[in-house]
This record gives sequence, C-alpha cells and structure tokens, in this order.
Amino acid sequence: MEKQCLDCEKPVRGRIDKKFCDDQCRSNYNNRLKSKNPDIVNFINSILKNNRKILEKLNPDGKTKLLKSKLLQAGFNFGFHTHIYETQKGLMYIFCYEYGYLALEKDWYLLVKRNEI
Ligand SMILES: [Zn+2]
Repeated sequence: MEKQCLDCEKPVRGRIDKKFCDDQCRSNYNNRLKSKNPDIVNFINSILKNNRKILEKLNPDGKTKLLKSKLLQAGFNFGFHTHIYETQKGLMYIFCYEYGYLALEKDWYLLVKRNEI
C-alpha cells in the first residue's frame, strides 16, 4: 500500500515509518499544527472583525450618532468587543479595535474612532 506524505499528500517512498517526503514537508506540517487556532478563537475573531467592519462602514468620518437599530440591522454583535475606555467623567466607550461606541440616552449611540490606545 502506498503511503502519503502528511504535508503535501504525495506518495512517500522509503522506510515504512516515513511520514514525509523530506524535512521541508515535515516542518511545513509541524508549523501548520502549531499555528492552528482552536475553533473558538477563530469564531470570536470573526465576530470581532465583523463588528469592526460594521463600525467602520457606519462611521466613515470618525464620529457619528445613530440609533441602536442601525447597528443591529447591520448585524452588529454587542456581546463582543476588544477593550473598554473609561473617561475621567466615567463614560464607558466600548471598542472593537480602533472603532468604539458610547451608549447615549434612549437607544442612541455615539460612534468614535481612536487610533491610539
Ligand atoms: Zn511531502
């Protein structure tokens, strides 16, 4: 029976316990295993990136005010963010990367952009 290289899937010739064509294939394979994120990490990353994309799209000028429904319509997920910025007055800006929002009165939100952390 012909064995396949675990990396490139080409047939492997040689010793019976050989798993790779060569050292290059072996290190490719091992690097891939090491860098592979668990599903939960990929899942959360994709939500955060999507949130960021929505904030970017709805806030092209760096500052804008809109209703919460606009964010929800766009598919924004309020459960995930990267960090919180609290002002001296105690206002809590919630950020997804450089884009943030502040809950105002009655379902209004202020969207902001901060390039520095
Ligand atoms: Zn190979």
